[in-house]
Amino acid sequence: MIRLADITSARLEELRERRPVALWPVGAIEPHGPHAPLGTDTLISVGMCERAAERLDDAVVLPPLPFGVTRYGAAFAGAVGISEATLRAIVLDVAASLDAQGFRRLVIVNNHLEPEQVATLRAAAQEAGALYLDLVRRRNAERLTDEFRRGSCHAGRYETSLVLAAAPQLVDGDAMARLPAVEVDMPAAIAAGRTDFRAMGMERAYCGAPAEATADEGRTTFETLTDLLVELVREGT
Ligand SMILES: [Zn+2]
Repeated sequence: MIRLADITSARLEELRERRPVALWPVGAIEPHGPHAPLGTDTLISVGMCERAAERLDDAVVLPPLPFGVTRYGAAFAGAVGISEATLRAIVLDVAASLDAQGFRRLVIVNNHLEPEQVATLRAAAQEAGALYLDLVRRRNAERLTDEFRRGSCHAGRYETSLVLAAAPQLVDGDAMARLPAVEVDMPAAIAAGRTDFRAMGMERAYCGAPAEATADEGRTTFETLTDLLVELVREGT
């Protein structure tokens, strides 16, 4: 598995004879309940890209983009975001630079699913000729867990399990175990015009059932997410 930031220029010169694919983990710094790290989304994207790169013989993992468009959690400590215009500009600039450097294709892997983030990345990827792994599309979401499909999944069982699999030391296990399940249909709440966590009924910046999270479920979900990414790369590049 090759991380672009870790290799030398000489090594990249060899690698780019094969016109490698660039996998770009994208996330956010955003509150994830009282128990999970602010960088949860980025951590999941990095985990997926690194696992996929183990299975693809011509993929290079870019340094993650840790900031996203994040407003819904602004009332809590830890929502540090960028604008849609900035996100679009970063994607276009990095895509152009990778192209000039001889990469075959940029593949954007995002796990921060605030609608403005997703819409900006979809449009910027299309503009840049990059691929975007769209996890909320039905055919992808169908393969993920029940909590994810219900859309009651911010820092709940789904995401917390992934963090437990990737970086268990970053989860406050005592806090996690005490959290009651909070059922919120986020897509419906957003469609009804609610654009902050509290208005959606997320008093502690989470929904779903974090107390049910396990590292085992996280490992299984990582496998599925990696399958989705590998399939996209094999079909689209
Ligand atoms: Zn998240």
